[in-house]
Amino acid sequence: MPKLSNIIFIAFLFSTSNLIAYSPAPVEKSEKDQVREIVRHVIESNNEFVKNLPPDYFVHFVHGQKPMATMVTCADSRLHTHALDIHPDGDLFLVRNIGNQVSTAEGSIEYGIRHLHTPVLFIIGHSSCGAVEAAMSKPTHLEPSIWRELDTIKVVGNKSDDHAQVKASVESNVNHQVSTALKKYTVEVKEGRLTIIGGVYDFRNDYSQGSGRLVIINVNGETNLAEIQKMPPFDQK
Ligand SMILES: [Zn+2]
Repeated sequence: MPKLSNIIFIAFLFSTSNLIAYSPAPVEKSEKDQVREIVRHVIESNNEFVKNLPPDYFVHFVHGQKPMATMVTCADSRLHTHALDIHPDGDLFLVRNIGNQVSTAEGSIEYGIRHLHTPVLFIIGHSSCGAVEAAMSKPTHLEPSIWRELDTIKVVGNKSDDHAQVKASVESNVNHQVSTALKKYTVEVKEGRLTIIGGVYDFRNDYSQGSGRLVIINVNGETNLAEIQKMPPFDQK
């Protein structure tokens, strides 16, 4: 778990890296110039990251990993680990795919749970998820490989331009993914070795808790918020 000094240090890192944040190239730039700027941004970001680390930062990385949680998120660029863990290195066994699905990444998730023995599995969807919207509207132009990866997204309705329906579908999908994981990891959950938590990263402020908040909507299949508040992760003990 991160120490306070590390959190402060990483906060400094993030404030420093903001100085070199990538801003999309103007449209009149050539493709070659855009690629050059993008690659330069990544290399400079990596330089900045390494430059500010203490000398022994990677020593314990060499001997393996012991992440605190397995986390499944959508691959969407608006959702990244620093929004959920200020110091994600070594903390999160991260699995990403379009629509934060369990079945399309079954082996990766199983490795996190049954080999790295993380006590928590997070499944995190987000506002305005394009994968969920595609599963709703079923556009005909998508390639078969993308269709296959939308296969286990569970939505409510087909109006991807109806914001309330998209929000309900994002929730429905997270709940469905939690159910899928519960079926597979029934024993681990029953014996208290695994807690499965579903959430939505809300950058639209749909839940009126402020933009960018993580909203927990499901714990081990429980979706009643009053009941969730009484459960061990949130019961204030
Ligand atoms: Zn998404």
